[in-house]
Amino acid sequence: RAKQCGGNRVQFYSAEMNDETLHRLEMERYLRKALEKREFFLCYQPIIDINTGEIVGNEALVRWRHPKLGLVRPDQFISLAEETGLIHEIGRWVLATACKQTKQWQKSGNKQLSIFVNVSAAQFQHESFIDDVKQALAQSRLSPNCLHLELTENSMLRNLHHSIQVMKELQRIGVGIAIDDFGSGYASFSYLKNLPANILKIDRSFIKQLHTNSSDIAIVKAIITMGHGLGLKIVAEGVEMGEHLQLLKTLDCHYAQGYALYRPATAEELSTYIMISPK
Ligand code: C2E
Ligand code: MG
Ligand code: MG
Ligand code: MG
Repeated sequence: RAKQCGGNRVQFYSAEMNDETLHRLEMERYLRKALEKREFFLCYQPIIDINTGEIVGNEALVRWRHPKLGLVRPDQFISLAEETGLIHEIGRWVLATACKQTKQWQKSGNKQLSIFVNVSAAQFQHESFIDDVKQALAQSRLSPNCLHLELTENSMLRNLHHSIQVMKELQRIGVGIAIDDFGSGYASFSYLKNLPANILKIDRSFIKQLHTNSSDIAIVKAIITMGHGLGLKIVAEGVEMGEHLQLLKTLDCHYAQGYALYRPATAEELSTYIMISPK
């Protein structure tokens, strides 16, 4: 009987595996075609200066619209793109598109507008990465000072020594380094001490309950104080309520991003906001 159960379970399990494998293979097949079929587009989410309310930059967030799958969020395809190596081409497209769009916005009035581009671990570790960045800057004629690359703690830790070299080279050409989802990864303070970063983005899990949770307030306060001490700029992610913004202001946080301010939107939708924002 036990054997039968086991047998059944194996059968059930493998059927499920087949489904999953099939889905994965299908996704992979679609993903390989997505670039040439122009199925990717970027959404942009503004980041504001908490003191002035002005938009200082936007974060580029990739979207994939497939005729059969519909709208696919990055959490559902970035890891597949990494595993298949497609991330490099996709990443280059994101970089190029985001830099070009930002230059466009600058030309129409907002001269200092910057762009924040997410970079995944595999992409960042690739030997062509620095050249990819340089090429996106050259082709768009965007100033390197207006580009910030978002890396997560975990993606830097994968190969710390190499990561530090790459970050330093990027900073040397003027590109900023932001640590994304700060506080949610495995980096310890000793890493932070040696990390060439310019900006910390506090993970949204610390912001969500900021208005009611005193532990979150203590943690966010400590991150901001530490950031000030290290000469870093601080962005709070996932600001969903006006109360969060008020609290962050009293804690001396520089920048904020979240649904309470602006939701991610297409370049077209955002153009109006960016234009009316003071320079
Ligand atoms: P992330 O870089 O931490 O981006 C923030 C995510 O939080 C975005 O989800 C954004 O839409 C969402 N968000 C913004 N404001 C709020 C808020 O107030 N509340 C809540 N609950 N969420 C908010 P999205 O666009 O689905 O992106 C998810 C993740 O996918 C990103 O996390 C980033 O790690 C990755 N990703 C996005 N675009 C790219 C890309 O072009 N390249 C790579 N490698 N990864 C990307
Ligand atoms: Mg990000
Ligand atoms: Mg984040
Ligand atoms: Mg994230």
